[in-house]
Amino acid sequence: MTPPKHLTSESVSGAPVPDEPVSGAPVPDEPVLSVRDLSVRFRMRGQRYIAAVTGAHFDLAVGQCLALVGESGCGKSVLASALLGLLPGNAETAGSALLDGLDLLTADEATLARTVRGRRVGLVPQSPAAHLTPVRTVRSQLEETVRELTGTRKPAVRQAAEAAAERAAFPADHLDRYPHELSGGLAQRAATALALIGDAPLLLADEPTTGLDRDLVERTVDELKRHTGDHRALLMITHDLAAAERIADQVAVMYAGRIVELSSAEAFFGEPGPRHPYARGLLNALPEREFTPIPGMPPELGALPEGCAFAPRCAYTTSACAHIPPLNASVACHHPVLDAAPAAAAQEATRA
Ligand code: SF4
Repeated sequence: MTPPKHLTSESVSGAPVPDEPVSGAPVPDEPVLSVRDLSVRFRMRGQRYIAAVTGAHFDLAVGQCLALVGESGCGKSVLASALLGLLPGNAETAGSALLDGLDLLTADEATLARTVRGRRVGLVPQSPAAHLTPVRTVRSQLEETVRELTGTRKPAVRQAAEAAAERAAFPADHLDRYPHELSGGLAQRAATALALIGDAPLLLADEPTTGLDRDLVERTVDELKRHTGDHRALLMITHDLAAAERIADQVAVMYAGRIVELSSAEAFFGEPGPRHPYARGLLNALPEREFTPIPGMPPELGALPEGCAFAPRCAYTTSACAHIPPLNASVACHHPVLDAAPAAAAQEATRA
């Protein structure tokens, strides 16, 4: 497989590269993961590029959960693939993603396979049933992962696999079942048990609640939070704001490939609430809030409008929005919602 190409940040995003966390954003102690100006674009036929992620920037500390939220197609899963070194050969990356001193964007495939996937980053997949091998029992898959990641050999491997299942609350009397014999919740626990075996400092959960009913969503995210404990960090990629509210310490909202708001979960879900009009719209679309959908549709990443990509859907647009707003004081918007009065005045001035 052709490895992705790594570029300077300027050549991808055209933006200066900040060395420090974004001003105003929460700065966790001792980051496990430090992402700086991470960009991913895909080289297409005819010298065309699709910018899937531009200038992502955040820190994630031990014991913390960062929820990366946004609608489908906003670039969240591309960012996850970049962190795991699973981008296709036509991808070009820029910036850095430091995990325990290793830059995940420039590490070679052998390093990623030998020391990152499973060992430094445990992946809780989007669809556990599809992630499990259908023709092997859960016990056999757990034992193989224990052997590979910990070097444990017979006869101790059986006991270690059972201990891994127990950590994820997977029942011992289901260990000899095949994936198709498991309920959605048990398949999720089997996948979580596999993700925990390498004792990775970073758990990456990519849409871990897709297709689960609400009770199971709550149980799944509570278990993920429990596994974070005091020696792991959790990056949860999700479109499910209710799940994020339940366990996140920080929230990063992504729109059209950019992080447009980075905030503590407390401020985001409580007071003062989201400041970016898109982030506020996402929250207000929840049935338990205003149940008001955001008008319009997100843009195609290959056909982004000039300036702020949210402008065609935004009620606060002014002429200033013809320029892409930088992420300042944790929000990338020329007229953050809590400054609604000045925004309305600016809007009036534009119309006049
Ligand atoms: S006010 Fe302008 S910059 Fe802010 S979200 Fe709306 S269009 Fe974008």
